[in-house]
Amino acid sequence: MELFSDLKLNPKILKAVKDAGYEKPTPIQEKAIPAALDGKDVLGIAQTGTGKTASFTLPMINLLSRGRARARMPRSLVLCPTRELAAQVAENFDIYAKNLKLSKALLIGGVSFKEQDVLIDKGVDVLIATPGRLIDHFERGKLLLTGVQVMVVDEADRMLDMGFIPDIERIFKLTPFTRQTLFFSATMAPEIERITNTFLSAPVRVEIARQATASESIKQSVVMFTPKRKDREASEKRQLLRHLIDLEGKNCTNAIVFCNRKTDVDICSKSLNKYGYQAAPIHGDLDQTKRTETLENFREGDLRILVASDVAARGLDIPSVSHVFNFDVPIHAEDYVHRIGRTGRAGREGTAIMICNTRDRKNFSNVEALLQKEIPRSNLYDDTSSVHKIENETEHLKTKKISSGEGSNQNRKNKSKNTKNYQKNEESNSTLGLGEHTPDFLSQSFNDRLVS
Ligand code: AMP
Repeated sequence: MELFSDLKLNPKILKAVKDAGYEKPTPIQEKAIPAALDGKDVLGIAQTGTGKTASFTLPMINLLSRGRARARMPRSLVLCPTRELAAQVAENFDIYAKNLKLSKALLIGGVSFKEQDVLIDKGVDVLIATPGRLIDHFERGKLLLTGVQVMVVDEADRMLDMGFIPDIERIFKLTPFTRQTLFFSATMAPEIERITNTFLSAPVRVEIARQATASESIKQSVVMFTPKRKDREASEKRQLLRHLIDLEGKNCTNAIVFCNRKTDVDICSKSLNKYGYQAAPIHGDLDQTKRTETLENFREGDLRILVASDVAARGLDIPSVSHVFNFDVPIHAEDYVHRIGRTGRAGREGTAIMICNTRDRKNFSNVEALLQKEIPRSNLYDDTSSVHKIENETEHLKTKKISSGEGSNQNRKNKSKNTKNYQKNEESNSTLGLGEHTPDFLSQSFNDRLVS
């Protein structure tokens, strides 16, 4: 493989890359950087984790190392679907451009307009933005895009999912047609194909093989879940999640729990906290400061469980986690590979456990079709027994609680009786292969557990 020094990058950039600890360019960097340095448009079909950020940031910085920015006319533009991705690109930019005097502005929601206006007024070399926020600035007459020499669109498929394509088209039209375009997408949906045909000029296509197979170091399993009571389905499912976390015990040092919907991210995180599991949510509707803080805590190991939506988690450079729990089967099968790819990195062991509800069966078969193999069915949980037993106990306790009143002697007697019942269940669970875990219902007060 080529070395970074073989790529015709400015020595100051090469030094920064070396300081970052990179030895060799990744396949996408090897192919995209020379084409971009030649001034060609690039169409990169690659996912996060391939080193794609550096594959557009490095040539962009190289080009910008000559020349100066003019007031209100950024010289380059990077569009990202989410604030986190934009912030991540900005971090990468700082690392690689540290030996050059280049300026940047980050236009994302949650960051004040005023501060960014001051920077733009002075003139910036790189503008990193989410499409909506960029258009807001433009419409306020604070920005001219006619000086853009290089435009990057990152994670175009996510832009499509999030309904940003009309914004992207509009932004393309506001930049000079002589600009150089570096365009990245994990997939080439027809709509993406149309955009690239319209706005890219004879691009060099760089395709990095799709990661259809998950890493061998990930131990995957699926738990087939059939709710006992339709009206308590959600709470039964959360109970099952806690149960699965408990079964993993100390092996589960940190985990990401993926939910399909933002509302479930919130509910799931709240519920886990209520039961004494240290968790925090991350999704697109949360305040930027909160999201950054949560991620930082997770990175630092101060937070054990991150409950996330796909959009929020996609592309985030989160260190390896021991466990990924799929609270829902993802709607898009390829998201399964992204999700579980958060664990088992760099050859380390990882565990990915998925809950498959009755109505998720179709999505589940799509996941297996994509992987072209069966995901082992977990025999650690039998949905006709343990959770339903727990559920019955909860119902039983509820009745007792109503009839006896809190804190009464009767209530305390019930508690000890119920503890025995749970211990009985625990014994029968052992025969199901549940192991030596201490179920959460034994370690916390019963009254706390009546609502899940
Ligand atoms: P990306 O796909 O751009 O999100 O990059 C994924 C991770 O790979 C980031 O943590 C980068 O810092 C890292 N990375 C990028 N290029 C290289 C390289 N050539 N060698 C080692 N690590 C890299």
